[in-house]
Amino acid sequence: MSRYWSAVVHGLTPYVPGEQPKLDNLVKLNTNEHPYGPSPRALEAIHAATSDGLRLYPDPNADALKQALARRYKVTPEQIFVGNGSDEVLAHAFMALLRHERPLWFPDITYSFYPVYCGLYDIAARTIPLDADFAIRTEDYLPQGEERAGAIIFPNPNAPTGRLLPLADIERIVAGNPDAVVVVDEAYVDFGGESALALVDRYPNLLVIQTFSKSRSLAGLRVGFAVGHAALIEALERVKNSFNSYPLDRLAIAGAVASVEDDDYFVDSCRKVVATRERVVSDLAALGFDVLPSAANFIFARHPQRDAAELAASLRQRAIIVRHFRQPRIEQFLRITIGTDAQCQTLVAALKDILAS
Ligand code: PMP
Repeated sequence: MSRYWSAVVHGLTPYVPGEQPKLDNLVKLNTNEHPYGPSPRALEAIHAATSDGLRLYPDPNADALKQALARRYKVTPEQIFVGNGSDEVLAHAFMALLRHERPLWFPDITYSFYPVYCGLYDIAARTIPLDADFAIRTEDYLPQGEERAGAIIFPNPNAPTGRLLPLADIERIVAGNPDAVVVVDEAYVDFGGESALALVDRYPNLLVIQTFSKSRSLAGLRVGFAVGHAALIEALERVKNSFNSYPLDRLAIAGAVASVEDDDYFVDSCRKVVATRERVVSDLAALGFDVLPSAANFIFARHPQRDAAELAASLRQRAIIVRHFRQPRIEQFLRITIGTDAQCQTLVAALKDILAS
């Protein structure tokens, strides 16, 4: 607190990211990082970029990356916006596209940065409860008489539940709200979801946001992107260029381009995570956990007889860190990132031991 703060700063409740402890031998399953690291080609490209022109400003438009993404996802570069992680892309989208007279609709249990951006940009929000199985109910996102959304945002798969909404339901929501922008945050879609990128050419109100942090294992590089109709992209560019016209640095552009161009590595490393996820799901079910169906690189699980906060604390004593949210409806769940097979075996063995005691 300080008397020098603006009234807006006094009123903010900032996002709290998962911790990044500086301890050795930690089994770190709390922030949904990918366990296998980025494509070796991305690392080579970053290395090459360090000796090649860091003296110079980067390309303010990151054209090389937009072109690589356009080729990969079969859209035009004008349909792409890039930023420092999808968090920055989301922030610009909240300002540029989601701030309207009518409220922004999003699920009650979702990525907790959304309410934070609403606070920052003074956006009215309406939170819509997930159903009893923690799924998004498509009907709830269609106009109800006079009641219509100013805009809509949700992750698919949702976070922290991991539950996937089928593409046909996304299309119903987008088609049913032609006057509202619908943002689908696909941070985790590469681990088993069907991307709404397939719909962007047909719906001028759809914006799809993805990240290099999860499926491309480049969380430390900070690269995210949005794909949509050129008019939506132009809105994002207008906000970006009113704020900081150099969003991506040279190393990030070089690494991200090489990552996009190494599709074999990407597909293979995601497949490994999915295979591990399926094993962890059945191991935890065998220990009596209820595990929500996950299409992400994490699972959301609760044990009917054990308190989640206590389980998280017991795991921590064994140097295993998972995420626990002290939040209504989900306080008995743990969100567990899928790590390597070895890390997940350590987790399952530790839980078995804790449950036996
Ligand atoms: N969306 C969702 C649903 C997330 O869980 C995250 C990760 N915290 C992000 C966006 C942001 O990821 P990044 O900024 O690393 O791209």
